Amino acid sequence: MGRIIQLDRNMVNLIAAGEVIERPASVVKELVENSIDAGATKIAIAIEDGGRKLISVVDDGSGMDAQDLANAFESHATSKIKEIEDLHKISTLGFRGEALASIASVARVRAVSRTRDSDQAHCLEIDCGDKGPVSPCGGAYGTTIQVRDLFYKTPARRKFLRTANTEIGHISEQFARVALPQGPLDLTLTHNGKELYRLPRTANLKERVGQLFPMLACEPGDLIETQSDEKGIRIRALLGRPSVSRTSNQFQYTFLNGRFIRDKFISHAIKEAYRGMLEANRFPVVFLFIEMPFDDYDVNVHPTKIEVRFYNANLVHSQVLGVLREQLLGTDLNTPAQLPAEVLSGVSSEVAGQHARRQQIAEAMAEFFKKHRPAQQQQFDLRPESIGERRGPDHKRATTDRPTPSVVPPLQDHRYIQIHDSYIVEQTQDGFVIIDQHALHERMLYETLQRRLQRDSLESQRLLLPESFEVTDAQAGAIESHTDLLAQLGIELTPFGPRVYAVQTFPTLLANVSPTEFVQDLIDMLVERGDAVAKQDLFNDILSMAACKAAIKAGQRLTDSEIQELLAERQRFESTSRCPHGRPTTIRFSIGDLEKQFKRT
Ligand code: ADP
Ligand code: MG
Repeated sequence: MGRIIQLDRNMVNLIAAGEVIERPASVVKELVENSIDAGATKIAIAIEDGGRKLISVVDDGSGMDAQDLANAFESHATSKIKEIEDLHKISTLGFRGEALASIASVARVRAVSRTRDSDQAHCLEIDCGDKGPVSPCGGAYGTTIQVRDLFYKTPARRKFLRTANTEIGHISEQFARVALPQGPLDLTLTHNGKELYRLPRTANLKERVGQLFPMLACEPGDLIETQSDEKGIRIRALLGRPSVSRTSNQFQYTFLNGRFIRDKFISHAIKEAYRGMLEANRFPVVFLFIEMPFDDYDVNVHPTKIEVRFYNANLVHSQVLGVLREQLLGTDLNTPAQLPAEVLSGVSSEVAGQHARRQQIAEAMAEFFKKHRPAQQQQFDLRPESIGERRGPDHKRATTDRPTPSVVPPLQDHRYIQIHDSYIVEQTQDGFVIIDQHALHERMLYETLQRRLQRDSLESQRLLLPESFEVTDAQAGAIESHTDLLAQLGIELTPFGPRVYAVQTFPTLLANVSPTEFVQDLIDMLVERGDAVAKQDLFNDILSMAACKAAIKAGQRLTDSEIQELLAERQRFESTSRCPHGRPTTIRFSIGDLEKQFKRT
C-alpha cells in the first residue's frame, strides 16, 4: 500500500496560509490589495482587538456575482491571469489566487458582494474551510469581507499573535504600504471603533506622506521632491534631508508600479545617493515610486510578492542613483541652526531661558567683533591641486607628476573670523555661517580624491628615501592580493626583507600625511574587510580615511590667507555641506533667526 496520498483541499489551503497569512496585518494586506485590484475608490478597514476578533474591509469596487463569489474562495482561483503569457506582465497586485482560500481556511469569514449591474447582493460564509451556500442578501455596490477569530482552530498559530497594540502596529505599517502609492484612493482605518487614519484622496504625493507620517513632513523643506522619466523608467521620489535621518531603514519605502517592494539593488542605490551626507548608522528617509513596463520584471518570485526580479537590475540601480544623487547634490543641505523652539514660536516668557540665550548670543557676537590677529606660522596651502608642491627644499620627496596649479581668485570684501582655532565664522548675505574647518577641508579633499580616482589612478610621487615597515603574514597577504588597488591609489610597496615592506611611491594629494602611518592603517583596513566589501565601498572608506588624515585639524590656527583660500576653494565643489562621515560642515544662521532671538520682530 502506497504511503503517498494527495492532500485534500483544506490541507492545501492551510499550507498556503502558513506562507501568506502570518498575522492580522497579512489579512489586511491581501484584502485591501483585492479591493484595489477591483478598482475601488474608497476602502474602509475596521479592526477589533488587534485583528484577533475582527478584520473587516469594505470597498466600492467591481463586486462579484453569485458564481464568482462561490469560486473566489477556492484555491488557485483568480480572475487576474489565465495563461503563461499573463504571468510575464502582471499589472494587478494579486495573481496567485491563494489569499481568500488561505484566509478562509484559518478563520470565520463572511463575504458580501454586489456588482454594478445587479440589484441584488450575495453573501457567503466559510468557517475554517467549511463553506456554506451562496445566498442573496442586502448590500451596497462593492465587496465587504469580514474575518473573525483568526487562527481559532490553529492554536499553534494563534499563540504567536502579539498584543493588540503590536498587531495594530503591523496593520498600520501594511496600511501605509498600500496607501502611499494610492493617492486617488479614499482610505480609513479604525481600531475598536476609534479612527486611526482617515486619508482623503489626493493627487499630491507629499500630502499623502504627510497624512501617514506627520512627523516626517513637519517642516516644508524636510522632504525634497524629485522625478525623472528616462529609459523606460519613471521615478518620483521624496527625499528626506540628512537632518531628518533615522536609525533604521524603516522609513525607506520603495514602490514598483504601486506595489511595495524590498530590493537590494535599490537599497544600495539609495545608500550610495546619500554617501557622505549621513553619519554611519544613520538611514535616510526616502519614498521612492518607480513605474516601468510590467514585462521588465518578474513578480512571481516570492509568496507575498515583496521581492521582484528585475531583468535589468543595473539599469534600475543607475537610474535611481542618478536621479537621487543629482537632486541631493543640487540642494542646499546645510544644517539650519537649531534655535530653542520656544524662541522661534515666540510664546515663552521664561526669564531664565531668555537670559541664558542672550548670554550665548552676546558671547558669539563678542567673538565675532573681537580683533583677531592670528600668530605667524607656516603657510598651509589648501588648494588640493597644489598640496603636493608645498614641501620645502629639504624634504626627501621628489615630485614625479607635477599637478596643474589652479588659480582661485581671492574673496573680496569677505568677513570671517576663526574662533577657538577650529571654526570659521563667515558673514553671508542673509546672516552668517559657522564652518567646521576640519570637516569642510576633509569634504573637499574627499571629493577631489574621488574625482581623480574616477578619471585615473591617483598621481603619486616617488619617495627619495623609501620608508620601510614591518608586517604580519596576514598583512603581507593583503598587500599581495591588493596590488591593483594600491596602484590605483598611487601607492607602490616593495618587499624589503622578511616581513618588511617599503613605501616607494605615495599620492601627491596626501603630501602632508606620513606615508608609513597611512599605509599601515590602509593595510589594517584591507586585512579586516578587503574581501568582504564591494570595491567601491572599500575605495570610499579609504578615501574618507585619507581625507581625514590630510585635512587641516581642529585646533589648528589658520592665517587669514589660508582661511580665504579655504572659503574660496569651497566654491569649486558641488556639495560640501557634510563631511565624508556625514557630519555637517556648515551651520547656517539667518538674520531673521537673530532678530527673533533679540525680539526685534
Ligand atoms: P488573487 O487576488 O491572487 O486573484 P484572491 O484569493 O485574493 O486571489 O482573490 C480571488 C479572486 O476573487 C480575485 O481574483 C478576484 O476576482 C476576486 N476578488 C477578491 N476580492 C475581491 C474584491 N474585493 N472585489 C472584487 N473581486 C474580488
Ligand atoms: Mg488577492
